[in-house]
Amino acid sequence: MPAEWDEFYRGVVAEPSLVEVDEGVFAYIHHDGSWGLNNSGFVFSSDQLAVVDSALTEGRARAFRDAIETTAGLQPQLLINTHHHSDHTFGNSVFADACIVGHRLCRDAVLRQGLGPTGQDPVVPWGDIRVTPPQLLFDRELDVHVGDDLLQLIYVGPAHTDNDVVVWLPEKQVLFAGDVLFNHATPITHAGSTVGSVAALEAMKALGPRTIVPGHGAVCGPDVIDDWLRYFRFVSDVAARGAEAGLSPLEVAREQDLGEFAGWQHPERLVLNLHRAYAELPGSGGGVVDEPGAFADMLRLNPSSYGHRIIEDRERYVEPQPSQRAGD
Ligand SMILES: [Zn+2]
Repeated sequence: MPAEWDEFYRGVVAEPSLVEVDEGVFAYIHHDGSWGLNNSGFVFSSDQLAVVDSALTEGRARAFRDAIETTAGLQPQLLINTHHHSDHTFGNSVFADACIVGHRLCRDAVLRQGLGPTGQDPVVPWGDIRVTPPQLLFDRELDVHVGDDLLQLIYVGPAHTDNDVVVWLPEKQVLFAGDVLFNHATPITHAGSTVGSVAALEAMKALGPRTIVPGHGAVCGPDVIDDWLRYFRFVSDVAARGAEAGLSPLEVAREQDLGEFAGWQHPERLVLNLHRAYAELPGSGGGVVDEPGAFADMLRLNPSSYGHRIIEDRERYVEPQPSQRAGD
């Protein structure tokens, strides 16, 4: 087991899993799907190989690439980024010999993000990370053929970010959802859209997926899309009631019973989604979200959000400096 897996932020993570979701289609799962512990995957034929997303650190991206080459016996020719966040793109430089594909806004966001996240958490063993943005860009859809498989790259943003792309294999009914969907974890939309997330989820559902590789969490079926649609209805209702009562997103989130969503990972992300939902309420005039402020509110709700596995006693936790942590 690489030493790298021993430590994540302030917690401990297990070795990733390689899951064959269909013939020649693999998911690579970083457990337990918490902050920075993303999923990626790859699709290959006898002589062609496309990868979906990289990883947060150089070491993880190298381990992922080793797993790909051992499994497929091929070098990656194409790397698709589902969005710009560091856990999906920081390992891009390990795949710099492949053509990197992403949405036009993803390239902008990767360049804007730069190496910012590495300065925010020195505990992470980042390794040699070089900013490596997508080089082949598209706006709505792009078809990629890998042997007999068609991969449809479909822009579904804004949802988790403004540059979300899903990868759809119509023949095999497999969907790589990026961070537009997590399995059993709370969404993050403060830098994206709650309204757009509903549209994205409905578009994904209409494709008719049988198997979904979410951005974080275990491989799942389409029922998880329905779970998230219910969550966003809940967020929209809570935001409407809170705004009418003159309460801030944080005040509402502190009081709100989470019901069926209480068991999902990182329930404190509710306040991130409320910040965005408030701005998207009818008549709000498309308000601007203070993204660092929303993130700071999340850490007020649960100061241990970033190190939840070992720092469970809120009283002893030292307040982090959340001002620059606008996303993941
Ligand atoms: Zn992610």
